[in-house]
Amino acid sequence: MAKVKKATHATCTICNETKPADQFNKNYQKLNGLQSNCKSCQRVLHHRSEYNKKNGIVTKRNKAKTKAICQKIMEACE
Ligand SMILES: [Zn+2]
Repeated sequence: MAKVKKATHATCTICNETKPADQFNKNYQKLNGLQSNCKSCQRVLHHRSEYNKKNGIVTKRNKAKTKAICQKIMEACE
């Protein structure tokens, strides 16, 4: 029996897009070995947390809000 089935694709929990595995960072704690957020969304989240840190903003995790910000930034840079 195979230990961990290597996923070839995964669905991002933020943008809900199914992308190839190479669009996801690796996370060995996950069943499929991949992060639940794609690299683009991860980057957005990182920028957002850096921005919040700089501006002293403390945010509660809000998926819907994150998704909106994610899409906004992606539209701007793609
Ligand atoms: Zn995504």
